[in-house]
Amino acid sequence: MIREAGVIVIGAGGLGAATAFYLVKPGARNVVLIDKYDIGSQTSPRAAGMVSCVRKSELMIELIKLAAGRIERFTEETGQPLDWVRSGSLKVARRAQDVAVVEDDVLRGRRLGLDVERISPEEAHRLNPFLEPDGVAAVMRVGDDMYFNPAQVAVGFARGAEACGATLLPHTAVTRVLIERGEVTGVETNGGTIHGPIVVDAAGAWTRQVAEANGLRIPLVSTAQQLFVTDPLPGARADLPMVRVMDAAVYVRPCDGGLLWGVYEEDPRFFEMDSLGERFQIKDMPLDAAVLWRYAADVRRQLPVLLKATVREHRGGIPTMTADGQHIVGPTPAARGFFFASGCNVSGLSISPALGDALAAWILEGTPPIDLAPLAAARFAPGSWSEDELRQQARWQYRHFYGSV
Ligand SMILES: Cc1cc2nc3c(=O)[nH]c(=O)nc-3n(C[C@H](O)[C@H](O)[C@H](O)COP(=O)(O)OP(=O)(O)OC[C@H]3O[C@@H](n4cnc5c(N)ncnc54)[C@H](O)[C@@H]3O)c2cc1C
Repeated sequence: MIREAGVIVIGAGGLGAATAFYLVKPGARNVVLIDKYDIGSQTSPRAAGMVSCVRKSELMIELIKLAAGRIERFTEETGQPLDWVRSGSLKVARRAQDVAVVEDDVLRGRRLGLDVERISPEEAHRLNPFLEPDGVAAVMRVGDDMYFNPAQVAVGFARGAEACGATLLPHTAVTRVLIERGEVTGVETNGGTIHGPIVVDAAGAWTRQVAEANGLRIPLVSTAQQLFVTDPLPGARADLPMVRVMDAAVYVRPCDGGLLWGVYEEDPRFFEMDSLGERFQIKDMPLDAAVLWRYAADVRRQLPVLLKATVREHRGGIPTMTADGQHIVGPTPAARGFFFASGCNVSGLSISPALGDALAAWILEGTPPIDLAPLAAARFAPGSWSEDELRQQARWQYRHFYGSV
């Protein structure tokens, strides 16, 4: 096994693999991408694969626009396949207070060059006949939104990184990051020690576990998210706009001739990864269909198809939520050479091309190409949060993913 590396990336999910790819693509050498399981096998392939361009901040809109462009050019850039569809989306408000959010979204989106407009519920029904206008107060159409095959992203970035010279080490668990006098000196793995001055903790649901083995605290919560894929349905064309119902936090998109749909429920399950044991994999996460059926009933007037369509696949994963709903990307002041790429907030796969690129530049050049202060690990003062507060705020961020008030 390799014994020395310039950069050691822990975790070959979307965030870690994208970081490794954008490190080696401009020429960095000695990059190692380590995963305790198969490459791209944990939460990333289980995502919905939706790209949402209208975000709450200008920074996030700038980043997601960059990411969407890279998703379109993925094959050109990495040499690997990625199926994607620019279907657009319909964001649906059912309550008066959410109409104001839609109006704000339209203004912000237009100002930042997005193809957004408010349309009538009847026009929305014409664009996607599965969405009934009954009980709909306002709809925003977003022409820039797209979806992609989630299973291809992490694997594609990792294979692309390998082709540019990165070393992939699947089935290798990092047991400890080595830190001496406040500086990273390498990692200990179940296959031996790798020396190196820079480590990226992109361990997804296990990010905290990797950091806390060294006493580095990071405020994120591993949180369940699950979805259904239905059997093929007449009329479920691949180019139908995706639908998001704001207050119910239900999303739907076309998938292989049927529909894929999920929800950000009121009371999500949080996981202490340590308590699940060393061999736990994301596929072992218990699923709970009752949650999805409860929310299908909530939106039965707008999306009656959800209660009727038969389910072909039920899958779930464990993204990480933060207290402010923002990702955690960049160095930590707690140890020189220790970087994070985590806090995905259930949207880390779509943004991974932009965050991976920005983090790679931060590592190679010492500063990020754009100001990422709102995402920096340094925004959390040590000990400035309690576990209870973190969970309470993470729960709120999760449930209010679509900006519903
Ligand atoms: C149902 C569902 C729907 C979603 N929908 C969307 C969506 O529409 N759009 C979107 O952008 N995102 C979506 N997401 C979120 C998306 O899946 C995540 O943001 C993204 O996959 C996070 O990637 P990651 O690299 O952080 O995690 P992972 O893919 O889990 O990768 C982390 C890797 O770290 C490895 N690892 C952990 N510990 C160690 C160790 N000690 N040593 C070595 N390796 C280690 C793991 O084996 C794993 O492979 C969804 C998620 C789910 C579950």
